Amino acid sequence: SNVLDGKVALVTGGSRGIGAAVALRLAREGADVALTYERREDRAADLVEQIKAAGRRAMALAADSADADAMSAAVDRVAAEFGRLDILVNNAGVFLVGPVEELGLAEFERTVAVNVRAPFVASKAAARHMTAGGRIINIGSNMAERTVFPGFALYAMSKTALVGLTKGLGREMGARGITVNLVNPGPTDTDANPADGPNAAMISGFTALGRYAAPTDIAAAVAFLAGDDSGYVTGATINVDGGFTI
Ligand code: NDP
Repeated sequence: SNVLDGKVALVTGGSRGIGAAVALRLAREGADVALTYERREDRAADLVEQIKAAGRRAMALAADSADADAMSAAVDRVAAEFGRLDILVNNAGVFLVGPVEELGLAEFERTVAVNVRAPFVASKAAARHMTAGGRIINIGSNMAERTVFPGFALYAMSKTALVGLTKGLGREMGARGITVNLVNPGPTDTDANPADGPNAAMISGFTALGRYAAPTDIAAAVAFLAGDDSGYVTGATINVDGGFTI
C-alpha cells in the first residue's frame, strides 16, 4: 500500500509552484489532498484534476491566508469534508522585497499576515483535528539563514519566525505524537523565482550545486516529513537548498 494511504492533507497555496508539487506528491503517496489558493482558480482546478487522476479525493478552497478567519475556516472545512486531517503544509507565502525605506507598514502587515500569522492560525485549527501521527510542515526559506542579497529584511524576518513556531509547536505537540518541522527551500524554479529570470545565474552561483531546485525537489523532503519514516524527527529544519547556506 502507499505510504500515505488513508491520510488527509491540506496544502496552503497549492495552486502553483512548490505547493502544487507538494500537493501532487502527497496524492501520489496515497493521501487525499485539499489545497488553498488566493486568486488562481484556474490553476487550482488543474491541480484538483491531477490529484483525482492519481486516484485520490481532492478539493480546492479559495482562502486568502492573510484573512485569519478564512484560514481557520478552510482547515475546519477540510476536516469536515474529508472526515479527518493528518498533514498540514503551510506553504503559501508572499515575497515583498526592496530597500527598507520603500517597505511600508502595508508590506509589513501583509508579509506577517501571510507568512507568519497564517501558519500559526492554520496550525492552531489543525491541532484540534489531528491525532497521533499528525504532521505539520512549514515552508520557510534559505533567506532565513543566509540573507545574501539586500532588500530581504522583511521576508527574512518572516521566515525566521517559522523557526520559532516550528520549535515551539514541536515541543507542545510531541506528547500527542504529532511532529512539526520546517523545510527551507533554496532557489526553486517557480513563478516567484523563475530559473530563467534575470538574476538566476547569480542566484545559482550561491548554491554548491550551481543550479535551481525543481519544485519536486522540495516536495520530496515534504513527503519524507509527512510519512512514517520521519516519526522521530520533530522541531527540525531541513535545508533543501543545493548548499546555499553552507
Ligand atoms: P509561487 O508564487 O510560485 O506560488 C505561490 C502560491 O501561494 C500560489 O499557489 C498562490 O496562490 C499561493 N498564495 C500566495 N499568497 C497567498 C495568500 N495570501 N493566500 C492563499 N494563497 C496564497 O511561490 P513559490 O512556490 O515559489 O513559493 C512557495 C513557498 O516557498 C513560499 O512560502 C515561499 O516563500 C517559499 N520559498 C520559495 C523559494 C523559491 O525560490 N521559489 C525559495 C525559498 C522559499 P494563487 O495561485 O491563487 O496566486
